[in-house]
Amino acid sequence: MDSDLVATRSCGECNVCCVALAIDDPALQKPQGYRCRHSLPDNGCGIYETRPQTCRTFYCGWRRLKWIRETLRPDKSGVLVRLHIEVQGDTGDQHLGVIFSLLNAASLKADGLAESVAAGVGAGVPVYVHVPGPPGHTGCHVRINEALHDAVLTRDKPAVLQTLRRVRNMARSMPHEPATLPFRAPSTLAQPPNA
Ligand code: SF4
Ligand code: SF4
Repeated sequence: MDSDLVATRSCGECNVCCVALAIDDPALQKPQGYRCRHSLPDNGCGIYETRPQTCRTFYCGWRRLKWIRETLRPDKSGVLVRLHIEVQGDTGDQHLGVIFSLLNAASLKADGLAESVAAGVGAGVPVYVHVPGPPGHTGCHVRINEALHDAVLTRDKPAVLQTLRRVRNMARSMPHEPATLPFRAPSTLAQPPNA
C-alpha cells in the first residue's frame, strides 16, 4: 500500500473517482460525470491488473489526509476531496491545495464537512469548493479561505456551512461549457452516471 495513505481507510464499495472525474490518459479518456466503461456492477474495476497509470496513482483526499474526517468517504458523503499542487508565480514554490467537490445537494449535510474545511483553512492550506457541471461539462471552483476566515477563527460552524451553501448556489448558477478533453464521443467510451 502507498505509504502516504491513511492506513485505516480503504475504498470499499466506493468508486466515485471512476465516475466523477475526467480521465485524460493515453490508455483511457473519459469526461467527468460519466461512469467509466470498465467499472463493474459491484463498483470494482474490470481491468484492475492493467488499469491505466492515472488510475494506479490516484487516491482522493479522504484516502490521503488524516485531517479529512472519517465520515467523508465520497460515496457516503457526496464530497470528493482532491489534492492539487499550487505553484507560486514569482518564486516557483509549491504548496499543497485541497479541493472539496460538492457532488450533490446532500453533500452540504455531510457529517464532518464543515470541520474538515475549517481544518484546512485554519492550517493555511489553500481550500477550494468545486461544484461539477452536468456530465461532460466544466464545473466551477472557488477559493474560500478568505470568505471563511472569520467563521473559522470563531469556530462558527453554522457560518461555515452557510458560506459553503452560498458558494455552491453561486457556482451552480454559472454557465457550464462542454469539456475540452480530446476524448471520442462519450457514448462509445462511457455510460451515464448510475447506469
Ligand atoms: S473516491 Fe477515494 S475512496 Fe472512492 S474509490 Fe476513489 S480513491 Fe477510493
Ligand atoms: S479503468 Fe478501472 S480504476 Fe480506472 S476509472 Fe475505469 S473502472 Fe476506475
